This record gives sequence, structure tokens and C-alpha cells, in this order.
Amino acid sequence: MTDVPNPRWVRQAVPDGRPLLVHVNTTSTGGGVAELLHRLIPAQRDGGLAVGWAVVSGTPEFFALTKTIHHLLHGKGNPAPLHGADAGVLYRSVLQPQGHWLAAQLREGDTVALHDPQTLGLAPMLAARGIRVAWHCHIGTTDGSATTPEHVWRFLAPEFDDVDVVLATRPEFGPPGFTRTRYVVPPAIDPDSPKNQPLTTAEVDALLTAIGLFGTAAGGDSSATIDQVGPVPPDAPMVLQVSRWDPLKDMAGVLRCLPGIPQDAHLVLAGPDPHEVTDDPEGVAILEEVRAAYRDLPESERRRTHLVTLSMRDPHRNALLINALQRRADVVLQKSLEEGFGLTVTEAMHKSRPIVASAVGGLALQVVDGKTGLLVDPTDYTGVAGAIRRLLEDPELSRRLGSQAAAEAARLFHLSRLVADYRRVVDQPHT
Ligand code: UDP
Repeated sequence: MTDVPNPRWVRQAVPDGRPLLVHVNTTSTGGGVAELLHRLIPAQRDGGLAVGWAVVSGTPEFFALTKTIHHLLHGKGNPAPLHGADAGVLYRSVLQPQGHWLAAQLREGDTVALHDPQTLGLAPMLAARGIRVAWHCHIGTTDGSATTPEHVWRFLAPEFDDVDVVLATRPEFGPPGFTRTRYVVPPAIDPDSPKNQPLTTAEVDALLTAIGLFGTAAGGDSSATIDQVGPVPPDAPMVLQVSRWDPLKDMAGVLRCLPGIPQDAHLVLAGPDPHEVTDDPEGVAILEEVRAAYRDLPESERRRTHLVTLSMRDPHRNALLINALQRRADVVLQKSLEEGFGLTVTEAMHKSRPIVASAVGGLALQVVDGKTGLLVDPTDYTGVAGAIRRLLEDPELSRRLGSQAAAEAARLFHLSRLVADYRRVVDQPHT
């Protein structure tokens, strides 16, 4: 057995006679699932559910393995680390004791929502105690020719015997051949959260000046580190991508689009400080790769590029900063090579931003090409830059796409819909 701490309660599930719903993932800060749970859980509590949130622990080797699984489900990477007995032993020995601990906190008839593959190995211990297990799969690929997900489904096959319900962002995501209940549940944003609340232009300016992205750049505070030659000029068009430092987000690839982006436009790449994130072992190295690519840029392009690393230590301030960046952006880009669902894109849609996104996975569900943004092939740097240029040069098109995007986000991707979707899971009779 691997020696790992028990799961940590982010919000303790206090039994009060009602059946409990407990969400489980691997981090309370950084990334879309943490973002989602911070908003979903209070809304579910307001809706009358007894809800808790636990975060499982893991070793660096465990998180390296689950990151491999994450990439394989996106159709990327080498499946070799999954083969051989060691991987299964590592995965299950980290999760088994935590599954027993969690099961002991709960009662028969309670529901546990396990988010993404990192937590699925808790299912057998929970099911053995009569706890209903929902597995919520936020990732996947729509590339029908990708073969790597099959390796993951084989690796995780024993766990699926103990799963009652699968929730997945798209019908193509999740285990093929799963015959029990299956729901398609795209993620959602909370329009009233600090990340999405209205901000005035003066508030946006003040926030971005405080971190040194605007203004004199002298007074950068501790909530951000910026690699830049100088601040973004007040009148410069701004192109933004917000992402974790993950190879599939292709921040380095965004830099390669620079030559085709109008010369007066500035590019801002923003992401969480990877040193503060425990469940994403690649973050530090990827940020360093992007920094190296930035340093190698010709002076004329480096001068209009800004790498912003945001601290997550004060989540409220971090959310306001993301909000301000998105509101200031003239174009929001998401050039992921694969993407289960980009919350960053829905956040930008809500703010009526014109969007350029890769035509992959969940992004192709979120953005309707030519109606709520422009979809591009992420491997075509010239095409990506061309779409950005088109929006920057056509303010009327940008305005129309942005306003249609906000309407579409309200129709499909607001929190109230997700709360109702989850209610169906909880209210379903337990078999
Ligand atoms: N995010 C954040 N602070 C940062 C960078 C990103 O809160 O410094 C948030 C971002 O606003 C979004 C989430 O992290 O809500 C990323 O979710 P997304 O679905 O786009 O990608 P994931 O990280 O889940 O792959």
C-alpha cells in the first residue's frame, strides 16, 4: 500500500438526515474542474442538496501517471506507461485507502461524483458500501481515429463495474459500451461569480495596472509575475489566451502565430503559477518552454508579447484579474490541440468577446463557427493568425459574434442548467 494522506475536505459533508452528494477531484485550485466545483456546490446547497467536496491526495508518480491518462483520453501521447502491472498497482494503491476512508464517512444511499480519471479508482470501495457512484468525465476527443483512449478504457475497466452513472461533456466522451445510465452534461459558468461579474473600464484598468500589465509597469504586485519588455499601450489591440501551462493548450504554438497577427496588436498569455499546483506535474516545465520560446522571439515580437503568471493564493483576486484580462481583450484565443471543454471560452463568450478557438473536442460544441466565434485548425498557424486579424480588422463582425456568443452562453452554459442536470443524477432511484 502506498502511504498517502486521507482525502481533504474542501467542504465537509455534514450528515443531517438527507442523502449526501460528495464531489471528489484532485485539486481545489487551478483548472476547470476546481473552478466548476467552487460555483456548483454553493448553488447545489442553495437548491436544497446536502453537498460536500473532498480532494484526494497523490504521490508525484501517481500524478505523472494520471497526467498520461489525461493526455491519452485526449487522443495524445504514448500508452506504454499504462502497460505492465506496475501502473495498475500504483493507481489503485494510492486510491484504495482513500476510498475506504471516504466510504467510512458516508452512508448507503449517498452519492459520490468522481471527477475525471484521477479519482475513478475510488469506485469499488464506495460501491461496496452501497454508495451510488457517478463518474463525471470532463475530457475526451472527437477525433474518431484516435486510438489511445482505448488503452485507458482497458486500464480502468475494473472500476466501471462499480459506476452507476456516467456524465460526460459530449456523447463521444466516456467509456464506450457503458450500459448503465449516461448523461451528456457540458460544464457551465456562474455569471455572478467574481470571474464573470460586470467590471467597469476603470476597474479593469486599475486591476491590470496593479499587476504591471498596464501603466508604468513599475508597481507589479505579488499576484502576478509578468515576462515583458514593457506594458501594453493603452490603445493597443490585445489578443489573450488564458490556460494552464499544459502541452495541449499549446501556448508556445500561439507565439508562432505572432508574425501573422497585426503588428500593433499585443499578445497576452496568462496562466496560473504552476509552482502552486500539485496535480499537474508538467506545468513548471511547460512554462519554462514557453519562456524560452518567448526569449527567442525577434525583438519586434517580444516587445508585444506578455507572459503573465498569476498566483492562485488569493482566489478572489485571481478571479478578478482573469475577469479584467478577458474584458480588456479585443480577441480571446483558445488554440488548444485538444480540449474537453474550455471554461475560459465560455467565460469570454459571457463577456461578449470575439473568440478564435480550435475546432476540436468541446470547443467545437461551445463555439458555432461564424455565429459565436471563429473555429480554426490549431496546427495551421497562418490560419489562426488570419482569423485573429479578421476580427481585429472588422469591429462590426467582432461585435456581432461577441453579442451572439453572450446570448449562446446564457442559453446553454450557465450554472442553473448544470444544477438541474445534477439533480437528475441525485434524484434517480439507486439500483
Ligand atoms: N484560471 C484561473 N486562474 C488562472 C488561469 C486560469 O482561475 O490564473 C481558470 C480559468 O478562468 C478557467 C479554468 O481555470 O475557469 C480553466 O478551465 P478550462 O476548462 O479552460 O481548462 P482546464 O484547465 O480545465 O483544462
